[in-house]
Amino acid sequence: MGTLVRITIFTASAEEAKDAFRAGFDRIRDLDRILSDYQPDSELNRITRTAPGGAVAVSADLFTVLSAAQALADATGGAFDITQGPVVRLWREARKAARLPDRGALAEAAGRSGFRKLRLDPARRTVAFDTAGMALDAGAIGKGYAASEALEVLSARGIRSALVAVSGDLAFSGAPPGQRGWRIRIHALDPGVARVPPVLELTDAAVSTSGSSEQHLDTGGRRYSHIIDPASGMGLVDDLTVTVIARHGLDADGLDTAVSVLGRDRGLALIESRSAAALIIERTPGGETVQVSSRFAQLAARALSPSH
Ligand code: AMP
Ligand code: MG
Repeated sequence: MGTLVRITIFTASAEEAKDAFRAGFDRIRDLDRILSDYQPDSELNRITRTAPGGAVAVSADLFTVLSAAQALADATGGAFDITQGPVVRLWREARKAARLPDRGALAEAAGRSGFRKLRLDPARRTVAFDTAGMALDAGAIGKGYAASEALEVLSARGIRSALVAVSGDLAFSGAPPGQRGWRIRIHALDPGVARVPPVLELTDAAVSTSGSSEQHLDTGGRRYSHIIDPASGMGLVDDLTVTVIARHGLDADGLDTAVSVLGRDRGLALIESRSAAALIIERTPGGETVQVSSRFAQLAARALSPSH
């Protein structure tokens, strides 16, 4: 998936930790072979070539990720859309060339995108494309899924305290010895802007952060994000950093991107409809504003209370 993975484990013996590392990284490697956009023969890239010819059977992992993506696309009116591969690729080239993608090319790519053109059959576990030239991009959801799945392998081996970090997508189980939880630092949070502690102590959760300006193209006085608004085919121009806490990384990672596209108000409404928590930092020339969902406010209040 084009990124670095770090696993932290607390066990009674180094030997036990070593075996667990191997199992965790094996699971990551297997998921990379399925979900990576960077490996031409990943399962995701293979179905890009074969699905236009008719329904193709896929692995349980890929079907899980695609099903979650389609559910999120439905819930967001297509703001989250795993079929934006053709559009995402044009923007990746545009960042390299340091100029906006060609309008005609964007319109053509948009014609080969759209979540309603991706058909899933849960009974047969197959995937079909309605249009030739479609391409899937799991970049917004795959890393969080991989983090939680690797953690699951460790938990199944009886390891109670571990953290898997796939780039900025984290999944963790019980607290490290002597701690109340994993200390999660909310990065770049201007202290005093909101009653949000810079560090949360959490257990048994997944945390994902999506930064709209993390990878970007600067041109014509604007900054275009690597996150696309499928409605326009354009990179987002609002500077948002969205942190989502959920039980599974599949949800945390999918939601951080969905909230980025929906924007602050519609994004918070989406979070409130799920068992998830979110913190949204919005930067404008006038300064920084911070908004939190109700569950995030509860976590923050707990972290700030002296009795905690
Ligand atoms: P994240 O860092 O989790 O927000 O994921 C960003 C990545 O998701 C981008 O680099 C693209 O590969 C992909 N992507 C961009 N826009 C969208 C979108 N609207 N829906 C789904 N995936 C997207
Ligand atoms: Mg995401």
